[in-house]
Amino acid sequence: MCNLIDGKKIASSVREKIKTETDELKKKGVTPGLAVIIVGNNPASRVYVNNKKKACEQVGFNSYEYALKEETTTKELLELIDKLNNDNNVDGILCQLPLPGSIDENAVLNAISPDKDVDAFHPVNCGRLFIGNQKFLPCTPAGIMEMLKYCDIDVSGKNCVVIGRSNIVGKPMAMLLLQSNATVTICHSKTRNIADITKKADIIVAAVGKENFLTEDMVSDGAVIIDVGMNRNAQGKLCGDVDFENVSKKASWITPVPGGVGPMTITMLLKNTLTSAESRIK
Ligand code: NAP
Repeated sequence: MCNLIDGKKIASSVREKIKTETDELKKKGVTPGLAVIIVGNNPASRVYVNNKKKACEQVGFNSYEYALKEETTTKELLELIDKLNNDNNVDGILCQLPLPGSIDENAVLNAISPDKDVDAFHPVNCGRLFIGNQKFLPCTPAGIMEMLKYCDIDVSGKNCVVIGRSNIVGKPMAMLLLQSNATVTICHSKTRNIADITKKADIIVAAVGKENFLTEDMVSDGAVIIDVGMNRNAQGKLCGDVDFENVSKKASWITPVPGGVGPMTITMLLKNTLTSAESRIK
């Protein structure tokens, strides 16, 4: 029988712990603060930013929103980041992506102090992850590791296949699995015969961005399936990368979309912000 990995429930349990730790920190005079920068009028970005602000309020953090107009220049954005890097009330800074095409995204992400880079996108934090000495964990992969732990799914010695090699999901996911002693294979658009590889996997993480990419014939009986995808189908409904209906007949554990990986990502952003705030009194 297939078990559902309930991201909402796990996220809510982790957020409870974050709230308790935040209450303790506040008694010591520190309130974690997250600065969220949004540039332009992208409706999806607005939804993500609102959700992040709401999550901050729920656990007792301060959130500071900087909504900038579409015409903002790279220089103006860098000046704001410099100000926030030096603001003692701000523990985490995130710049909602995508930025308008006229802005140098790399320059912006590299300008955020690695000690306030709660998305863990800065090259210094990527390097720390590579050598296994990280301060902040990249949110989506960290959320997945948390889910596996919550469900007592041990990855040590397991064959794990990550489909997708983006800097924000696929690559850091593979690194975290490797740190936990999994044997990891990364697949991408140039990988030949993906099904031959996925069929040998104990755990599959699909981070492709294509509806119904992972089908029943690509999965072995009892595999653990993590669906990172957030796609819209022809009817406009949110769906993942996995053919949930059929793959769940073979899997031992599976994440749904929505209600799987998604709720964990913001939760890990809160966790990183708390970690940063705690370093104020260390
Ligand atoms: P991305 O940057 O577009 O990367 C997609 C990856 O999939 C690439 O590495 C690409 O390979 C690979 N790929 C594409 N077509 C393939 C194929 N036919 N066979 C094998 N690999 C293929 O996307 P992303 O940012 O990693 O996001 C992936 C999905 O996760 C999206 O649906 C996104 O919306 C979702 N997401 C969800 C969350 C969440 O919190 N739930 C967070 C982040 C992202 P190449 O490198 O060779 O092009």
